[in-house]
Amino acid sequence: MELIFDDLWVRTLPGEQDIRPGSRQVYGQCYSRVLPTAVRKPGLIAWSAEAAQLLDWTQSPEMAEILGGNRVLESMKPYAACYGGHQFGHWAGQLGDGRAMTLGEVVNGRGERWEVQLKGAGPTPYSRRADGRAVLRSSVREFLCSEAMFHLGIPTTRALALVGTGEGVMRDMFYDGHPELEPGAVVTRLAPTFVRFGNFEIFASRNEVDVLRQLTEFVIEQHYPQHRGDIYAFYDEVCRRTAELMADWMRVGFVHGVMNTDNLSILGWTIDYGPYGWLDPYQLDFTPNTTDRNLRYSYANQPRIGQWNLARLAEALLPLVGDEKPLQASLDHYLVHFEKRHRENMWAKIGLPPSNDPLLADLLNLLEDFETDMTIFFRNLARVRELEAEGLPRELSRAFYGTPSPEYIEKMRIWLLRYLGQARDLELMNRVNPSLIPRNYLVQQVIDRCAAGDAGAVNEFLQQLRQPYRERAEDDPLFQPRPDWARNRPGCSALSCSS
Ligand code: AMP
Ligand code: MG
Repeated sequence: MELIFDDLWVRTLPGEQDIRPGSRQVYGQCYSRVLPTAVRKPGLIAWSAEAAQLLDWTQSPEMAEILGGNRVLESMKPYAACYGGHQFGHWAGQLGDGRAMTLGEVVNGRGERWEVQLKGAGPTPYSRRADGRAVLRSSVREFLCSEAMFHLGIPTTRALALVGTGEGVMRDMFYDGHPELEPGAVVTRLAPTFVRFGNFEIFASRNEVDVLRQLTEFVIEQHYPQHRGDIYAFYDEVCRRTAELMADWMRVGFVHGVMNTDNLSILGWTIDYGPYGWLDPYQLDFTPNTTDRNLRYSYANQPRIGQWNLARLAEALLPLVGDEKPLQASLDHYLVHFEKRHRENMWAKIGLPPSNDPLLADLLNLLEDFETDMTIFFRNLARVRELEAEGLPRELSRAFYGTPSPEYIEKMRIWLLRYLGQARDLELMNRVNPSLIPRNYLVQQVIDRCAAGDAGAVNEFLQQLRQPYRERAEDDPLFQPRPDWARNRPGCSALSCSS
């Protein structure tokens, strides 16, 4: 099989063409040409057959060499993109692809163009003081979660392959002054584009309006052709897509963890899987990111942060359009889109059409009052048909972390009596309430097996993640609340940004 790459990005947009080492500020350019740094012993750890179909590729022995960065094909023109970003609410200046690099684009048999990007393939001009590498644990997390997100039906960049490098990477996992050598890996990611809000922000911040315009026109032409010549309409659609993405994350209990503007896709897709997590107990202020001390990126804050980030994008586009009023109108309308989708999603989780009945809000309040596993509770709610004379159905009490008080049980019984009298759409419930999400502790177990040399561990879990909505037996080990030992173990619930 011959692998052919196109280079539309490189040949259309301004970029640094000379490949030279060293971190630096790059002005007036959308990208810098780079080359991956070869690794000692590239070995394929995992492969997503569905993602490969997007490229019309099949697994072959040469993949480890190519996707580990050891072999650059003739048609590849690898580059690292220049972008900036607001991190934790503050302008951080130039960031850029510090360890990611796009090899080129593959146009498949259906005419779709997919960017093929390596993450962890060595330093670029944007690496600042870091090494351009990624550790196995964070790479396994990105590989599995992006594919899981796809199978959950939520827009996301994809993961094609996970390649072990055979090299160690130095990381201070707990930021406590004890760096250790950890196994390294490279993830191959796919997306129509990896452009983030930060790609626009960097040019606006430097008043490089010509480049800003070229980038914007390119993105609209390639990804929003229906809005050709209309930046307002383009922005409006980015707002709507981002709103819907936030609502969909909330439906499945996903917490991104680092919603900086450099980690928000211009497509409105999930991108950059770092210290993400999933709600085990339904807890509105949960953040998986131990660095996020102010809970800025906590579960229930995500819609608000999505809007904050969109405001930064509007500021970046303003030099191109002049009038801020239409941008402001779209930004305001973001909340309408979010509320609509969120309402539909959440009512679907209990199998009822959206209404003003307090039934849904009452349930969510109850779930907040006692630690209850979000996934198990909602999935099993469809299995509950009636109440016994006392207590709660086993399917639901299985979701509790601990033993609720008799008063709490009574309140839940009263809620259930009201609820079970309604005509529910059980099939709808089973389509929106997953029985399996890649909980952090489950992924951590895969990482542990992988690090111990169990080559099949990642693909085995991926196989399960392909069917997140299927029925699972009560004793299925993947359909259990988070075990007690995982509550405080690093990586199993919360984790640092170290990757
Ligand atoms: P993140 O928080 O992973 O989205 O990364 C923020 C910025 O830091 C991006 O510009 C990354 O490319 C850069 N970065 C993170 N880790 C590394 C690394 N190990 N080497 C070089 N750049 C990195
Ligand atoms: Mg990032």
